[in-house]
Amino acid sequence: MRRIETEILVVGGGLAGLAATAALAAEGFATLCVDPAPVAADEHAAGADLRSTAFLMPSVALLERAGLWAALEPHAAPLRLMRILEDGGPGAGIRTRAEFDAAEIGEPLFGWNLPNWLIRREMLARLSALPGAMLRQAGFVAMVPRLRDIVVRLSDGTQVRARLVVAADGRDSAVRRALGIPAPRIGYGQKAVVFAVSCTLPHQGVSTEIHRAGGPFTLVPLPDRDGVPHAAVVWMEDGPRAAELATMPVQAFETELNARACGVLGRLGLATPRALWPIISQIAARFDGPRSLLVAEAAHVMPPIGAQGLNTSLRDVALLRDLLVEARAAGADIGAPELLARHARRRRAEAALRIAGIDLLNRASQAGARPLREMRRLGLEMLHRTGPLRRLAMRAGMGRG
Ligand SMILES: Cc1cc2nc3c(=O)[nH]c(=O)nc-3n(C[C@H](O)[C@H](O)[C@H](O)COP(=O)(O)OP(=O)(O)OC[C@H]3O[C@@H](n4cnc5c(N)ncnc54)[C@H](O)[C@@H]3O)c2cc1C
Repeated sequence: MRRIETEILVVGGGLAGLAATAALAAEGFATLCVDPAPVAADEHAAGADLRSTAFLMPSVALLERAGLWAALEPHAAPLRLMRILEDGGPGAGIRTRAEFDAAEIGEPLFGWNLPNWLIRREMLARLSALPGAMLRQAGFVAMVPRLRDIVVRLSDGTQVRARLVVAADGRDSAVRRALGIPAPRIGYGQKAVVFAVSCTLPHQGVSTEIHRAGGPFTLVPLPDRDGVPHAAVVWMEDGPRAAELATMPVQAFETELNARACGVLGRLGLATPRALWPIISQIAARFDGPRSLLVAEAAHVMPPIGAQGLNTSLRDVALLRDLLVEARAAGADIGAPELLARHARRRRAEAALRIAGIDLLNRASQAGARPLREMRRLGLEMLHRTGPLRRLAMRAGMGRG
């Protein structure tokens, strides 16, 4: 049997697990990341993740310190302004327009957007060059925590001895199940149709969210391709309607798409295949266990509104990095229960608040009944017109609140 010794074992090599591995290895911790899935780091590869991620500025700071940002920045589109529109539906047109400018809270930008398959490619390149970082294609099977370490069995028969296990193995986390931690799930009967579009008008760094019923329709800037403006689209709808949109012939789909986009970026053309993502909220009852910590979607999942999901996960990673660096400087154990409990308490409190806020926004956006839509419109107008409230919302959305 093969045996590996490391300080930290990161279970799961999704974007959160890869970022955690780079962030911890960059601080000099020997870090092994395991994932059974082959990494699809090419746009056209089977299983490639065609979503994009809007990294808000605090996440960019984490990626910079981990040595990841320099390779990502050339492929990223800046996000300067967020625009929210309330579409009254056929005949009524746009009824409310609210704009949120990063400059108003003293930030040059809200963040940067780039395709997930490309983020993965650049993260893998960085990890292969980073001393102290290791990747292994194998899954977590079981673990036995002990007084000074934790022993983990992988699907390829390898035994890993580490001081700490960081579970970033997604919403159905095997580590979470092994710890016996429940994670209640809220379903909305909704799915997101995700794809990229070409546009006849430039986006000028503006991200647009359009509300009608069924859920928000969001256009997020992508870098131009061959001089043509592009944007990433997340179109949330009730499940059956989303399934219908995802499989509709392209021409019919583009007609629906252009009607839903209200012409904000001119004429849109479908530029990639369409993918469907289920929409849920979920939070683990606790985020820590013996010599183990749940982070990212293993700990918390929220609907994709306001770019909160991975950004919340990267704040888990930033706090973990800081606590581990502090523990090492004090000569303390990096898997000590008090340290893990401190991390878990702080991160669970923040994730629970964010999930509650996003849940409310999603339910409001899903509502189709006229009185509820009117309430949503008035709420948006009040938020937009009240300066202090508007700035508070922007800071909280960025994770600076
Ligand atoms: C449509 C959509 C748009 C989004 N847009 C944004 C955005 O703009 N900004 C933002 O911040 N967030 C966004 N999010 C959220 C973000 O995409 C997710 O938070 C993120 O991708 C989840 O990352 P993760 O690494 O936690 O989980 P995953 O990506 O699910 O990764 C988990 C990994 O664990 C591995 N794994 C599973 N089982 C095992 C095992 N037994 N052993 C080892 N490994 C295992 C899996 O193979 C997988 O690679 C969006 C989400 C959706 C659905």
